[in-house]
Amino acid sequence: MQKIKDIRLFLKDVLGSQFPDSELRGFLNWILEFVFDFSATDALMKAEELLKEEDIIEVKRIVALLKKDNPIQQIIGYTWFYGSKFRICKEVLIPRPETEELVDWILKDELERKSLLDIGTGSGCIPIAIDLNSHARVTSLDVSAPALDKAKENACILKSRVTFIHADILNPSTTSLLGKYDVIVSNPPYVLESDKKLMAANVLNNEPHLALFVPDDNALMFYEAIANIAVDKLHYNGLLYFEIHENKGEEIVSMLINLGFTSIELRKDLQGKDRMIKAVWKL
Ligand code: GLN
Repeated sequence: MQKIKDIRLFLKDVLGSQFPDSELRGFLNWILEFVFDFSATDALMKAEELLKEEDIIEVKRIVALLKKDNPIQQIIGYTWFYGSKFRICKEVLIPRPETEELVDWILKDELERKSLLDIGTGSGCIPIAIDLNSHARVTSLDVSAPALDKAKENACILKSRVTFIHADILNPSTTSLLGKYDVIVSNPPYVLESDKKLMAANVLNNEPHLALFVPDDNALMFYEAIANIAVDKLHYNGLLYFEIHENKGEEIVSMLINLGFTSIELRKDLQGKDRMIKAVWKL
């Protein structure tokens, strides 16, 4: 490995048997951005440039970690979400593109100066992206102290003014910490324990199970708890948004209808899977 253009072949040599080409292309772009501050176009123009010794060492370090199934975003310590760079760590879920779609839906619904509560902060990607792109007053809560630390760090770096609360949404006493809101949003854990065997090692072994999994026999536990809180804490005409498991759309819609929500809308993500729900509280 001597030149910029050789990195692609190095990745293919070391990781080709483990990852598809599409994923290798993604790794390459992340490495070019993180190590060299290059865009994909820069990399084409500078293909013949010689690598410095320290850059070769860094690329080899990253590739060795990729080989051990570490997610690239955890190796470099950040990812992009809705146009902002979010720092991440092992204690937070890596922000996903489908969650950007949910944020985009909420922002396009005209938040003005509304109050919004996000449940399950993680890296802070949902509340911070909404805060940075609207005039809403945003509060966000999480049960995980290390996740809240990371979210606060992101809020500080990105100059966001989200209010964070450390609390467990499944604990009935949490309601006493909450006010009334115009909007409640959550991307709670929804992956079934039985789906573990289908998951890629880099997700399963490195991302926080606390943020991902629910028991098969109580798959909607967070949706039920949050919808019940929303009944109590949403203003008249308030909105509830969820990111959901692709197979649970109908069940969550029925649960919301039974609780008295109206105008319920189920939307697909860019992959064509049922992925998000909006419901209106009119009582
Ligand atoms: N979308 C994530 C995944 O499939 C799960 C997010 C969640 O459980 N809230 O890995």
